[in-house]
Amino acid sequence: MTKPDRLAVQASLERFLNTDPRDVGCDEALRLLHVYADLKAAGGDPERHWPGVSAHLLSCGPCDEDYHGLLAAVMGT
Ligand SMILES: [Zn+2]
Repeated sequence: MTKPDRLAVQASLERFLNTDPRDVGCDEALRLLHVYADLKAAGGDPERHWPGVSAHLLSCGPCDEDYHGLLAAVMGT
């Protein structure tokens, strides 16, 4: 393996580690956040229905905070 090749592999590996390809992004995550939280509060499995939102919440602190705030509100705590 030549040096440029190794750098290219390293770069794509870093991209892979930093962003989940299923990640839907902030706009879509926030759009679905209330249904996601509703289903979670109802004892459902929103991770299975919206894996892209789940992936986003894991990688985005602000959205994850919004989600937990919303979940707490939905569950009445
Ligand atoms: Zn976000």
